[in-house]
Amino acid sequence: MEPTGKISPQPWMTAPETGAVIRALTAGGGEVRFVGGCVRDSIAGRPVGDIDIATPEPPVRVMELLEAAGIKAIPTGIGHGTVTAIEESRKFEITTLRRDLETDGRHARVDFIDDWVVDARRRDFTINTLSSTPDGDVYDPLGGLDDLGQGRVRFVGVPKERIEEDLLRLLRFFRFQAAYGRPPADQEALAACRIMAPRLCELSGERVRDEMFRILLAPDPADSAVLMRGVGAFDAILPEAGDVGRLRMLTWLEGTALKMETVAPDALRRLAALLDPGCGGAGAEAVARRLRLSNREADRLAAAAAPVQVSPDGDAPGLRRTLRRLGAETVRDLSLLAWAGELAVTPRLPAERTGAWRHILEAADAWRPLAFPLRGRDVTALGGAPGPAVGRLLAAVEAWWEEGDYGPGREACLEKLKSLIGDG
Ligand code: ATP
Ligand code: MG
Repeated sequence: MEPTGKISPQPWMTAPETGAVIRALTAGGGEVRFVGGCVRDSIAGRPVGDIDIATPEPPVRVMELLEAAGIKAIPTGIGHGTVTAIEESRKFEITTLRRDLETDGRHARVDFIDDWVVDARRRDFTINTLSSTPDGDVYDPLGGLDDLGQGRVRFVGVPKERIEEDLLRLLRFFRFQAAYGRPPADQEALAACRIMAPRLCELSGERVRDEMFRILLAPDPADSAVLMRGVGAFDAILPEAGDVGRLRMLTWLEGTALKMETVAPDALRRLAALLDPGCGGAGAEAVARRLRLSNREADRLAAAAAPVQVSPDGDAPGLRRTLRRLGAETVRDLSLLAWAGELAVTPRLPAERTGAWRHILEAADAWRPLAFPLRGRDVTALGGAPGPAVGRLLAAVEAWWEEGDYGPGREACLEKLKSLIGDG
C-alpha cells in the first residue's frame, strides 16, 4: 500500500527523545510507525499529547530493544502487545500489530501479526487508523483523512459489533464526537449506542471516570452530553446527570468568556455542573463512589453540590466570611456553577449581574487565608480559667473579629478578650 500524503516534521517527531525511541525500535531492522492521536492531531493542527507507536516486533522483543538502548520500558499490557517507553519524561505507548481473536466486551485474546491494514481494522474509529512513518509518510487505509476533514466520527466496521467487542468504545465514541465530530453524529453509531448502553454498567468505575473526564474536557462537551442522554448512556453510568444547560454555560464561561488565569477547563467542576442540582450531597456521594473518585475529588464534588452559599446579592464582609469558611477553590466552584445555572435560564444576564459574579471570582483570587490571631494559651495568660470556658471565650472573640471584617489585629483581639474575661 502506498502512502496517501505527508505530514511536515512536527516538533514531537523531531524531538531527541522520539528519535531515541525510534532508533531503539528499528535497531534490529524492524518497521515502526506513529499511530493514533499523534498522527490524527498533527493533521488536524491540534496539540499532540502522548505518542503512540506501532510495530510488527513482538512485545517481548520491544522490551529488549528499548532496554538495550538504555530506555526505560514498562510492560503495561504485554499480553495485548503494549509496552510503555519513558525517555526524558516523555511517554510512548508501543503496540505490536495485532488482531483480536476473542472478545467479551472488556478483555480480548490477541494474535500478533505483521499486517498494517489488519491492525488498522481492529482500531475503533477511522480517524484513529491513520499512521505515519518516522519521516511523515501518512497511510490511510480506511478513509480516516476524509472523515477527519469532514468531522465524521465513524466506527471501523459495524458499530454494534465493535461495541460488543469492547464496551469502552461506546464512551470513546462520544469523546471523539465531542472533540472532532460535526453534527449530525453518525446515525448508525448512535443506534448501536442506544442498544448497547444498558451494558455500560459492566465497565469498571475507573474506566468510566477516565472516559467521562476526557469527554467533559472537550472544548464543548454539552452536545455530546445531549447525545449521551438521548441514547440512555447516562441511565447506566450517571443517572444523576440532568443539567446539560448548566454544563454548556459553565463550559462557555471557563473556556471562552472569562479569560481568568484561575478559571481553566476543569473536568470535576464540569461533572458537578452536569449533575441535577436536586441530587444534592447524597447524589454527589453516590457519583463519587460509582466513579471511584479520589477522596479529594469526592470532597470537592460534595462541596460543589451543596446548596448555594455564594450570591452576588450578599455584601463584601459576608463574602469574606464565606471565603474564610469554604476556601477560595470551593467559592470559585460554587459561584461558577451558580452563575452558569443562571445563564442556563437567562442567557443574557444584565451587565451589573455579570459584573457582580466576576467580582466574586476576583475576590476569590485575591483571598489569602486568614488565621485568627489568638490561641488558648492567650486566655489562660490573661487569667481566664482553663477548661471549656477557654473555647467559648475564643469563639466569642473570633465572632467579634469576623464581624469587624478581620480588621482587628492581635493587640485589639487581646483587649477584647480581656474585657470578656473581666465581664465573666
Ligand atoms: P488521545 O489523543 O486521547 O491519546 P488516541 O486516539 O491516541 O487519543 P489512545 O487511547 O491513546 O487514543 O489510543 C491510541 C490508539 O489505539 C487509538 O487511536 C486507536 O487507534 C487505538 N485504540 C485505543 N483504544 C481502543 C479501543 N478501545 N478499541 C479500538 N482501538 C482502540
Ligand atoms: Mg494516544
